[in-house]
Amino acid sequence: SAKRQTSGPLVYDPSIDLSSAQTLSLMSELRLAVGEGQLRLFLQPKLALDSGKVMGAETLVRWQHPVRGMVPPMQFIPFAEQTGFIRTITMWVFEEAARHWRRLHSEGLRITLSVNLSTRDLLDPELPQKFDSLLVKHSVPAEAFCLEITESAIMDDPQRAQATLDRLSALGFKLSIDDFGTGYSSLAYLKRLPVDELKIDKSFVLSMEKDADDAKIVRSTIDLAHNLGLSVVAEGVENAKVWDMLRDLNCDQAQGFHMGRPMAASEFTDWSVSWTA
Ligand code: C2E
Ligand code: CA
Ligand code: CA
Ligand code: CA
Repeated sequence: SAKRQTSGPLVYDPSIDLSSAQTLSLMSELRLAVGEGQLRLFLQPKLALDSGKVMGAETLVRWQHPVRGMVPPMQFIPFAEQTGFIRTITMWVFEEAARHWRRLHSEGLRITLSVNLSTRDLLDPELPQKFDSLLVKHSVPAEAFCLEITESAIMDDPQRAQATLDRLSALGFKLSIDDFGTGYSSLAYLKRLPVDELKIDKSFVLSMEKDADDAKIVRSTIDLAHNLGLSVVAEGVENAKVWDMLRDLNCDQAQGFHMGRPMAASEFTDWSVSWTA
């Protein structure tokens, strides 16, 4: 029988029935989280490797839970994806990101905000139109956003994903393939999809300094991206050595704890003013 947890992970157990008591109580907690304003949007900087300039930030959600404290996304995003509630979370994230972009823009910051999309979002034919209405509401251009999609989210239903991505791209959104190299890569989709950016998964970047094979994977991904006319971002840059290696490989942008951890959106302006490469 399912017992209510007050601590520990909220990770969804696929063996539990979606109508079980535990699932229902998690669902109502998550609904409450959105309704009562318990979600927080953190920003992690993305920097140009040649100039060291702040080019953008990835938006990363956290749940400020009244009992559990700050809950990381891996403890509720997979559950939200299973139940379809991710679509509500994505709308909250996007609107919050639009508000932050407006504010950062008025403070003089010229950056792109990256927003993560999941499979469920890509299968929602109304998503492009919903995003477009929020852009109008907050008077923010679509070009202000980069939408990150994983390879596996695309491969779930490539035709429907492509239809959604084509419409998002036509609206002016930039598109990025997240966690590149970890999915069931079919390189063929890269040339069909209106993608602007590849993001090399941190599993390769974290170890490229010590593992020659991972360094080769990073190098060939950068070359592949550039040959296809795409910009390339490395995530998981944790030290200066990896920053230098990536710069020497002509990687375009880097994101990682070495430069900046995900931070409360209210701290971002101060961080970027004090940042020097
Ligand atoms: P992701 O999209 O691959 O996001 C990057 C993750 O890598 C973030 O974890 C970030 O904190 C972490 N990271 C960044 N730099 C470094 C580094 O130098 N070293 C290490 N070890 N890690 C680094 P986070 O914030 O815990 O998010 C985990 C995942 O949760 C994300 O992976 C994404 O799949 C999901 N997620 C987070 N926010 C959202 C959201 O708003 N919507 C959706 N659909 N998914 C989200
Ligand atoms: Ca991402
Ligand atoms: Ca990623
Ligand atoms: Ca990842």
